[in-house]
Amino acid sequence: MERLRRNLAKVEERLQAACRRAGRDRKEITLVAVTKSVSAEIAALLPALGIVDLGESRPQELWRKAEALPKNLCWHLVGHLQRNKVERTLPLVQWIDSVDSVRLLRTLDIESAKRSKSLDVLLEVNASGEQQKHGFRPEEIAPLTPLLRDLTNIRIRGLMTMAALQDPEQCRPAFKLLRELRDRLRQELGPPHAVEHLSMGMSNDFEVAVEEGATFVRLGSVLFEGIA
Ligand SMILES: *Cc1c(COP(=O)(O)O)cnc(C)c1O
Repeated sequence: MERLRRNLAKVEERLQAACRRAGRDRKEITLVAVTKSVSAEIAALLPALGIVDLGESRPQELWRKAEALPKNLCWHLVGHLQRNKVERTLPLVQWIDSVDSVRLLRTLDIESAKRSKSLDVLLEVNASGEQQKHGFRPEEIAPLTPLLRDLTNIRIRGLMTMAALQDPEQCRPAFKLLRELRDRLRQELGPPHAVEHLSMGMSNDFEVAVEEGATFVRLGSVLFEGIA
C-alpha cells in the first residue's frame, strides 16, 4: 500500500506539471489504472487512494477482477474485444476504450439495446500506422459518421490510441492527430453521442499526451513499479 501511495504521488506530480505546462485543469484528466500486471488484491487497494477507474486489456482478466472487486468501480476494457465475449463483458464495464471495427460497433449497439444501462465507447485509432496494431486507420474515421449516427444504443464518447513505444516526444504527432480527428467528429455527431474524450498516454508517454489534450491516461507500469 505504501509503495502504491508513493508511486501514485509521483505520477500525480508529473500529471500536474504537465497540466501547468499546457495550461490545463487537472480535473479534465482521469487516471485509469491498468491492472493487468497486478493481482485483484493489489487492484483492490486503488479506491482507497482515490482511483476508481480501472482498466484491463484482456476480457477474461477483466471478468475475473471485476467479479472479485466491489461493484462501485468504473471498469474500462482497453484491449481487443472479440464479439463472442461481448455478452459477458457488457454488464461489467462502463467504458470500452478500444472499439476497432464496424462489426464490433454493430454488435455493441444490438447488445446494449437489451440493457437499461448505456455504454460509453471510444473508437481506437491506429494513429502511429504500425502494421500489427488494432484500430481504425485515421482516414476511416470521418467516413464512419453516417453509420455512427445510426447507432443509438451506445454513446460514442471519443477516440483512443496507443502510441508506438519510442521516445515520448516522437509520440506527439500521433496525439495531435487524434485530437484533430476528435474535434472533427465532435462537430458531426449529435446526441446521444458526445465526442469529448481522448484516451491516450501510457507510462512511457503520458505527459506528452496530457500536453496534447488527453482526458484519460491509461497507466500500468509507472503505478505498479516495485509491486509484484
Ligand atoms: C498495458 C496497457 C496500458 C498501460 O501500459 P503501461 O505502459 O504499463 O502504462 C495502457 N493501455 C493499454 C491498451 C494497455 O494494454
